[in-house]
Amino acid sequence: MPLLPLLPIFHRLNREHFDGTLAVNGQPLSCVRWSDGRMSRTAGFYRRGPGIGASRGSEIVLSRPLLEPLPQEATESTLCHEMIHAWVDLVLRTRESHGPRFRARMEAINAAQDRFQVSVRHRYPVPVRPLRWWAVCPSCGSRYPYRRRISNAACRKCCDQHHAGRWHRSCVLQFESAV
Ligand SMILES: [Zn+2]
Ligand SMILES: [Zn+2]
Repeated sequence: MPLLPLLPIFHRLNREHFDGTLAVNGQPLSCVRWSDGRMSRTAGFYRRGPGIGASRGSEIVLSRPLLEPLPQEATESTLCHEMIHAWVDLVLRTRESHGPRFRARMEAINAAQDRFQVSVRHRYPVPVRPLRWWAVCPSCGSRYPYRRRISNAACRKCCDQHHAGRWHRSCVLQFESAV
């Protein structure tokens, strides 16, 4: 699934589950954005501090590498989870992480709809080591995932098919960054 624009989802969740309190004059209280390609340990986070979120003072960041391959409901549930953190912090002005206010709002949202479920922990498959490279065969176009670059590795399929199983320069894999 391609990357979704987050703001329309944010505004809809804000209307449906936070009484519109997470935006003022159509502007979200927190900056909301996708991560770069490296954030692969957690599906999302909320944080507040000076200078954070294009000087808005807080931001919600969702993991592009973890959520991009999953159905839209995973993005909605993760965004909603982080919006509860923002709501507890910015609207209720309470210092708690997954405390009683967080859980009460989470349960209310889960009971109010069945499009997605918010959980305390983001339960998505987190790769132990993220994929870093695609090796691309210039001859047949096959793509192979690699964790690190290997110089002079050739496409086995092409070597077998066209070069009697011997290494050949014409099918040396070219590495493209996957992050
Ligand atoms: Zn959380
Ligand atoms: Zn090939």
